Amino acid sequence: MVIIIGAGISGLTLALTLQQQGQDYVLLEAANQVGGYISTETNGHYQLERGPNSYLFDAETIRWITEDLGLGSQILMANDVSKHRFIWRKGRYRALPQNPLSLLFGGFFGWGTKAKILAELFRKPSTTPAETTIADFFGDRFGQEVLDYAVGPFVSGIYAGDVRKLLVGQTFGSVVRMADQEGSLIKAFAKSQKGVGRRQSLTFRDGMEVLPQAIAAHLDHLHLGHRVSQLKRQAHHWEVRVENANGVTEVLEGSQVALCMPAFAVADLVKDIMPQLAEAASKVVYPAMAAVHTAWRKQDIAQMPIGFGGLHPQPENRFALGNIWTSQVFDGRCPADQALFTAFVGGTTAPEKAQLPDDEILKQVIKEQQEAYRIKTEPAFKHIIRWQQAIPQFDINQLRAEQAYNDRDKSLGLSIMANWMGGISLSDCIRKGKEGLPSNLPK
Ligand SMILES: Cc1cc2nc3c(=O)[nH]c(=O)nc-3n(C[C@H](O)[C@H](O)[C@H](O)COP(=O)(O)OP(=O)(O)OC[C@H]3O[C@@H](n4cnc5c(N)ncnc54)[C@H](O)[C@@H]3O)c2cc1C
Repeated sequence: MVIIIGAGISGLTLALTLQQQGQDYVLLEAANQVGGYISTETNGHYQLERGPNSYLFDAETIRWITEDLGLGSQILMANDVSKHRFIWRKGRYRALPQNPLSLLFGGFFGWGTKAKILAELFRKPSTTPAETTIADFFGDRFGQEVLDYAVGPFVSGIYAGDVRKLLVGQTFGSVVRMADQEGSLIKAFAKSQKGVGRRQSLTFRDGMEVLPQAIAAHLDHLHLGHRVSQLKRQAHHWEVRVENANGVTEVLEGSQVALCMPAFAVADLVKDIMPQLAEAASKVVYPAMAAVHTAWRKQDIAQMPIGFGGLHPQPENRFALGNIWTSQVFDGRCPADQALFTAFVGGTTAPEKAQLPDDEILKQVIKEQQEAYRIKTEPAFKHIIRWQQAIPQFDINQLRAEQAYNDRDKSLGLSIMANWMGGISLSDCIRKGKEGLPSNLPK
């Protein structure tokens, strides 16, 4: 039997895959609900996402959620305007160029940067060392302006991360491999887009948590309120100690364990059996973040760009990392005469801001939005959500943890299937879960 620990999107998808393959499994989840970081809160007339705000799915995954999971009528595609992304620069939001031609001929970048972009097209193939940071990789090719005003904000929008710390090979592995072969990153990117189906941004009418709940409804062996407190390796099997919500402890036996949980939780469980992995996993950085939801009366907003949202480059010294213009992206999130925004605060570039008291964070976010959108009133609604350990950083610590994991004795049948190995996006987690477990492990 495979014992899967953690019913976030990674563990749920893996459990469904094993069930469909006819494998014996059990899925144990400490919380009383599935989904992990995916969690939707309905608060009066407002539908708020506590964690991720959207899925980015290819056609095959959309077919899977529609046909296999029966969620067709629940799917809510992002509105067309969400193709437009904005960057805060010199006191206002400016539209980010959407294609290489507008990079060169539009007014977003200066002439020095345009010359660098052009020169990059003639770069020779080379090998990027494993410890190259995003800042080194992109800075070397395109210069500081692209790093500050395109790559940096993009990375902080996804990872709440610091380009000077994140490793490019760990974060954008396939892009680096292509660029190394091709020489030019722009050419490699253009080639990679040929024949690739468009990925679409979506959520569900009742929010992001519809998907984990739908997968859970298909599972025969899911146990909520079951926290795993200890893992032991016996001669031929695993012993897993589980404490349920009623305080009852039981010990399960399995031929394999799949750990679908954050690095710090894995570190705790494997400290006696795989101390090197535990040590490395305990160092994976999860910065604190706050998500602030505010709703404004549309009639009070004097200046509103139309798009997905606006990101704040570090040199601009804004309080929030950026804002998603949530009600422009998805319909039905707030009353029709209001606009709902989601601002993110903290991350690795400003962890201290996420530690400020709620009142202070709300005050700063509201002040910044009043200035940016020229609003003279107070918001109709405000709400703050905190994550003390938000998104794993694919920096040197994560690389070391991945190396320690790859060096483990694979015949023991311990796998890690979670967002801190091989990609944090929800589509990455689903892809890994659907691939299932390596086939050469003990049954
Ligand atoms: C604020 C925020 C915004 C994000 N936005 C997006 C976005 O818009 N799009 C996107 O694609 N991704 C986004 N992400 C990333 C994405 O949400 C995560 O990478 C993904 O949800 C992680 O899923 P997981 O299953 O790997 O882990 P988790 O969701 O962490 O699930 C792990 C599960 O393991 C359980 N567990 C832990 N320890 C034990 C134990 N001892 N016993 C039993 N169970 C245990 C936990 O309770 C939890 O349910 C965002 C993340 C955050 C934090």
